[in-house]
Amino acid sequence: MLKAQDRIFSNLYGEKPWNLKTSQSRGDWDNTKKFIQKGRDWITQEIQASGLRGRGGAGFSTGKKWSFMPKDIEKPHYLLVNADESEPGTCKDRDILRNEPHKLLEGIALASCAVGAHVAYIYVRGEYFRETETLQAAIDEAYEAGFFGKKSEKTIGWNLDVYIHRGAGAYICGEESALMESLEGKKGFPRIKPPFPAQSGLYGCPTTINNVESIAVVATILRRGANWFANLGRPNNTGTKIFCISGHVNNPCNVEEEMGIPLRELIEKHAGGVRGGWNNLKAVIPGGSSVPLLPKSICDDVLMDFDSLHDVQSGLGTAAVIVMDESTDIIKAIARLSKFYMHESCGQCSPCREGSGWVWRMMERLVKGQAETHDIDLLHQVSKQIEGHTICAFGDTIAWPVQGLIRHFRHEIEARIARGNS
Ligand code: SF4
Repeated sequence: MLKAQDRIFSNLYGEKPWNLKTSQSRGDWDNTKKFIQKGRDWITQEIQASGLRGRGGAGFSTGKKWSFMPKDIEKPHYLLVNADESEPGTCKDRDILRNEPHKLLEGIALASCAVGAHVAYIYVRGEYFRETETLQAAIDEAYEAGFFGKKSEKTIGWNLDVYIHRGAGAYICGEESALMESLEGKKGFPRIKPPFPAQSGLYGCPTTINNVESIAVVATILRRGANWFANLGRPNNTGTKIFCISGHVNNPCNVEEEMGIPLRELIEKHAGGVRGGWNNLKAVIPGGSSVPLLPKSICDDVLMDFDSLHDVQSGLGTAAVIVMDESTDIIKAIARLSKFYMHESCGQCSPCREGSGWVWRMMERLVKGQAETHDIDLLHQVSKQIEGHTICAFGDTIAWPVQGLIRHFRHEIEARIARGNS
């Protein structure tokens, strides 16, 4: 269990005010200039040495991503912060925006220096209206203190302007290239890669995009040292993570914990346990709705980190833990997710556009048992034809929940079909 002194987000629950004065009393904006004066290479190397992997879902090394930013191109460089938190079950960035905005803003200053950006945009999910108000007020405070704007060169050693852009509510705008399109004022259509954002991102310029949580931990890592962060968690899965625990638990919550904590411990220590006790657990979606679910037998001892969950054919994703007890109609639950993903497909590529609707219609038939047993294999086959065959990773998010269902609850689907046909 994470020790209190190793917690990065000490005001995650908003027990104290979010404002600059109290944030500074918690250590934010302390000697930021000192780190910036060490230079962009030093910051990037420290973050790389800490082992920090992106907290938005993909889990790519944050420091390595920064190192891809060119140094010999005259064009403007941009830092984009992805606050378009829309994955069902995920609500961690919301709490950072509400209660720890200055951790994010200081992280933006340091990350902007690391990637050579003098302009940073925070793309906030449109529905986060109150959070945007808080964030804007915090940005105003940072301008007033000289951390941003004309005085920032002198105050923190880096010339920086920071702007908020509010999204209009499309899930796909959380995909980094769709986010850039949206920011440019266009429809949020994902771009074909390459080129990758570091070469040609926002307005065709070198761009780095990071999740809110990834950026918000940067200042603490630099302050406490890469080694401190690297010694938390497990090798290749270092540091702390905010987990969002929802569903059939006694006390749904967000909690910062050490990477690699056993799933059972996470649920029992922080969320008051599964409703009706651990043995009443049916399944858990461990990383936001797009990753494959896990049955109780795996949940019993799986660890919550990137590699452990990958090893059991799921993923840490956004670390949004959705708990389902024995009362859950698991086929219906996954069918509901299929409907969501069908609705959110941007429609650019046919496997996703057509496949998502096909998958949902088939799932609806399975919910009612109005299918044949061989339809299960057909559904699996179609999901495989969507996965990896689309412009962006959204195709995978259509396929994975269904594949997880078939992998672990095929017997339940077959039983329903048998009942439906009797
Ligand atoms: Fe759009 Fe889906 Fe293709 Fe992504 S995979 S570009 S969401 S149609």
